[in-house]
Amino acid sequence: MVGSKEKRDKRLQQVSLLRTIPYSDHQRWWTSETVAVVTGANRGIGFEMVKQLAGHGLTVILTSRDENVGVEAAKVLQEGGFNVDFHRLDILDTSSIQDFCQWIKEKYGFIDVLINNAGVNYNVGTHNSVEYSHMVISTNYNGTKNIIKAMIPLMRQASTGARIVNVTSRLGRLKGRHSKLENEAVRAKLMDVDSLTEEAIDETVSEFLKQVEEGTWESGGWPHSFTDYSVSKMAVNAYTRVLAKELSERPEGEKIYANCFCPGWVKTAMTGYAGNISAEDGADTGVWLALLPDQAITGKFFAERREISF
Ligand code: NDP
Repeated sequence: MVGSKEKRDKRLQQVSLLRTIPYSDHQRWWTSETVAVVTGANRGIGFEMVKQLAGHGLTVILTSRDENVGVEAAKVLQEGGFNVDFHRLDILDTSSIQDFCQWIKEKYGFIDVLINNAGVNYNVGTHNSVEYSHMVISTNYNGTKNIIKAMIPLMRQASTGARIVNVTSRLGRLKGRHSKLENEAVRAKLMDVDSLTEEAIDETVSEFLKQVEEGTWESGGWPHSFTDYSVSKMAVNAYTRVLAKELSERPEGEKIYANCFCPGWVKTAMTGYAGNISAEDGADTGVWLALLPDQAITGKFFAERREISF
């Protein structure tokens, strides 16, 4: 145990070092005209991703469902000299999504990077409740899909490709140690990327919610801890693979690369600030993924700048 903790600490130190190494000119596919959008960015990991992307010289749109809080968060970065703009965006509200798209169209015309960071979780520590399952699945899975679908037509067509980065969690892994999915049929369905479809993922989350309503979910073989949250992130992971497969069929010059990552256990409001790394370190892999020069990478899952299994 001590060995693995030391290994992890060393890896985190290396990640911190990597973050400080600037991208070399030949890797730098973006300019100050490159537009990135981050959802749920008024605080935590999202706020840090905005800061780091703007630090790399992109134009970044900080979005938040609460206008006042978002304006204040953007102001902090603008006063620090970062090229950050703000617009309200609630990923659960269709009219908010429409307003946002219209604003992007009029002000920027397109975006190059979409980071789906907005998320909720109502379990902290060892607490596991499914009381808020509907909200958790709607926000983390359906909300993420809603904004992706709305933004795809607004993603710039360029030879370097546009990028979608989904913030998920190791808790959504199909063979995860910490929150094991014991339902073999669900696991086989979500694992088989060749036959996996969005409808199959929708059916899986609907089945989970139905069991929650009927009070039978405990014998359904769902993950034991943070159950609703784990199911929501499992669904986003699976959707990332389906999305990447669909987007890979687009012609050259119109490609969009979609990947997901786990930020680690991060000291933010979501964990009651009980994580073991800072929001700055938690943001690192997402920013690295968004800026990857290697366009062949799509439909993959990452943590600490390394590919991990779904
Ligand atoms: P925070 O709770 O600090 O941030 C979550 C953000 O999402 C907030 O800005 C929140 O807005 C926003 N949000 C929630 N619902 C909506 C919505 N409907 N529309 C728009 N924004 C919304 O948590 P973190 O920074 O820790 O979490 C960021 C992401 O990282 C989440 O997807 C989370 O699941 C993921 N993650 C976090 C881990 C951790 O250890 N912290 C581990 C693994 C994954 P508001 O302030 O208004 O509530």
